[in-house]
Amino acid sequence: MNSEARNDARPALRIIPREQHTISRKNISKAALRVLYRLNEAGYDAFLVGGAVRDLLLGGRPKDFDVATSATPDEVKKLFRNCRLIGRRFRLAHVVFGPEIIEVATFRGTGEEEGAEGERHIVDGRIVRDNVWGTIEEDALRRDFRVNAMYYDISDFSVRDYVGGMQDLQDRVLRLIGDPDTRYREDPVRMLRAARLAAKLGFSIDAPAAAPFEELGPLLAEAAPARLFDESLKMFLAGHGLKSFRMLEQCGLLKFLFPATARALKRGDEALRALVEQGLENTDARVAEGKSVTPAFLFAVLLWGEVRDLAQQQIARGKDATEAWARAALQVVGEQCQRVAIPRRFTFTMEEIWSLQPRFEQIQRKKVLRLLAHPRFRAAFDFLLLRAHESPAIRELGLWWDHAQQLPHETLAAALPAHGGGSEPEAATPTAGPARKRRRRKPATKSKPA
Ligand code: ATP
Ligand code: MG
Repeated sequence: MNSEARNDARPALRIIPREQHTISRKNISKAALRVLYRLNEAGYDAFLVGGAVRDLLLGGRPKDFDVATSATPDEVKKLFRNCRLIGRRFRLAHVVFGPEIIEVATFRGTGEEEGAEGERHIVDGRIVRDNVWGTIEEDALRRDFRVNAMYYDISDFSVRDYVGGMQDLQDRVLRLIGDPDTRYREDPVRMLRAARLAAKLGFSIDAPAAAPFEELGPLLAEAAPARLFDESLKMFLAGHGLKSFRMLEQCGLLKFLFPATARALKRGDEALRALVEQGLENTDARVAEGKSVTPAFLFAVLLWGEVRDLAQQQIARGKDATEAWARAALQVVGEQCQRVAIPRRFTFTMEEIWSLQPRFEQIQRKKVLRLLAHPRFRAAFDFLLLRAHESPAIRELGLWWDHAQQLPHETLAAALPAHGGGSEPEAATPTAGPARKRRRRKPATKSKPA
C-alpha cells in the first residue's frame, strides 16, 4: 500500500477537550499519573490509552492503566529507576509501583517509512514481532477495535479519537480497525478478544468483525498456548466468566479453544451445561465479593463432561476404575494443553478433583474419614455440589457430605459402618434435619475405584 492510499483510509482525528468528556484524573491511578507526568516533563508525548480510556469513558474502573509514548523503551528506562524492559515479540517497559505495574509502550508504526526504527516480522500474514516505532496516528491504526484506540493526553487532558471510537462507545458496538480478514490473520487472538470484550462490556460485535470467525477460527491452533491460557483467565476469572462462555459459544469460537467442552456440550448434555454455567456463575460471584478463585477448579468444570464420559466408557468395558479415571484425565488434559497451556500445578489439582469424585460414593468409616482429611477435600466437595444437576442421587450425596462435615469427628466415626460399600448414608446421620428427607433413598453405588 503506498502512503497516499493510507492517507485516504485514515479517518479524521477528533480531539475532545476536557470539558466535553468525563475522564477525571481522580479516577486514574496515581502510579499511571506519575508515569504520564514524568514522561511529559522530559519532553515526550504521553497518553493513557486502550482499555483504560475506554473503561473510564464508560464510567467503569479500569483493570490496568496502559501508557503510550513517543519515548523508546530505552529512553523510558532512563527516566524511571523502577523500570524493567520486557517482551521480545512486543518490547515494552514496565514501571513498577509496589503491586501495580504500568505498561509503557512506544508508539508502533507500520515500518513502511524510510528509516523506520526497530523491526517487524510477518510470517504467513501473522505478526510475529512488532517493534517498529512510529507516530501516534500509526499506533492508533494498529490497535484492534476502534473503542480501544483512544488516547487521553496528559498535557491538556483532552481525548484524541483517531478512528471513531467515541461513536462506537455510543453505539455499544465493537468494530475492528481495518480489514477484518487481514487483522485476524495478523493475530487470531483478536477473535477471542472480540468475544471477551463484547461479554465484558455488554457490546455487540459488528457483523463484518464477526463474519470471519468460522473460517478463521482454526488459526487459533497456531496461537501460542501460553497466551491462550492468559486469555482464558481474562475470559473466565475476571468476573464475567458466564457471559464470556456464552459469547464464545454463540460466536462458534469455543470449539477452537476448548474442543472437549464444545464436543460434550454438543452431545446435548443439559446436566453438563447446568454444571458449567453454575460453576462460572459461582466464580463470578466470588470475584464480585473479592474472594480468591483458582483456575484449576474452573478448568476442572469445563472439562468434566469429557473426562467423566471417557472414564465411564472404560469402566463399562471392564477396566479398573482408578485406572480408567487416571487415563481419562491424562487424555483430556493432554489434548487441552495443546491448545491452552494450563500449568502443571493446576492440571495436577484438576486431576485430584476428578479422581476424588467416585470416592464420595464410598460410605465406610475409614474411607470417609480419609476423604474428609484429604487436602483437596474442599475443592472436590464443591465440585460434587455442582454435580447435583447430574442426578438426584448425586444431590443426596452432596447433602450427606455436607452434613457429615458438620458432625463432631467421634460422632461421625461411631455412626459409620466399618465395612461394606452398600451402606446408606442415613446410617451415619444420627440427627434429624436434612437426613430425614433422605430416609428411603440409597446413595448411588456406581464406580468404585480400588
Ligand atoms: P482489558 O479490559 O481486558 O484490560 P484491554 O483492551 O485494555 O482490555 P489489554 O490486553 O490490556 O486489553 O490491551 C491494551 C490495549 O492494547 C487494547 O485496548 C488495544 O488497544 C491494544 N491491544 C491489545 N491486544 C491487542 C491485539 N491483539 N491487537 C491489537 N491491539 C491490541
Ligand atoms: Mg487493559
